[in-house]
Amino acid sequence: MLIVEDEPSFVDALTVGLSREGFRVESAPDGVEGLARFRASVPDIVLLDVMLPRLSGIDVCREIRKESSVPIIMVTARSEEIDTVVGLEVGADDYVSKPYRLRELVARMRAVLRRGTGAEDVSDERTDDIVFVDGNLELDVDRHEVTLDGNAVGVPLKEFELLALFLENAGNVLTRSTLIDRVWGHDYVGDTKTLDVHVKRLRGRIEEKPSEPRRIVTVRGLGYKFVPSGD
Ligand code: CA
Repeated sequence: MLIVEDEPSFVDALTVGLSREGFRVESAPDGVEGLARFRASVPDIVLLDVMLPRLSGIDVCREIRKESSVPIIMVTARSEEIDTVVGLEVGADDYVSKPYRLRELVARMRAVLRRGTGAEDVSDERTDDIVFVDGNLELDVDRHEVTLDGNAVGVPLKEFELLALFLENAGNVLTRSTLIDRVWGHDYVGDTKTLDVHVKRLRGRIEEKPSEPRRIVTVRGLGYKFVPSGD
């Protein structure tokens, strides 16, 4: 695999972690070198930072796409940027935002690699996909997709993880600390409002009337609960 990333601390941590997962890791510190390294080594998958010196990750992605269908996972500095990057339709296969967990990245990488192994394999994998369904709402964990009435809904990474957690525990109260711990872990920075902001945004995407939420309800003094449709 090829990592194009200009922050040495990320490169070091990823090289160690991903080597342990069985990947042979090469890296490049900027966009120009990344493109050159891509052409020289023909990796099976590319992890591409968006903000890079010399040539941005978006430009690198576009250049690679002109000559290859290699799986590309783009890395944004903030989850909010994913929407922007996705909107540009540069041809990446998946997106993660910093900070991310290695375990999650590896899962994404394996999912993207599986998808690239031919139609038959893909349909086989689909049967193993974890898909949560609640009324008109569906969340596909492996494909990282949310649909409402069959229409795709763009959901940034943290909100996606929150929603998956809510659906997995539908009907049960999830405390604030559980949610923060499971979705952000040690990466959680800022005050406890961060969680509320993400919940608010999520409601805006999946609730019919976000101001009167019927799916993700607040449980005063505790946290939140996902109320299944029909309850
Ligand atoms: Ca960067």
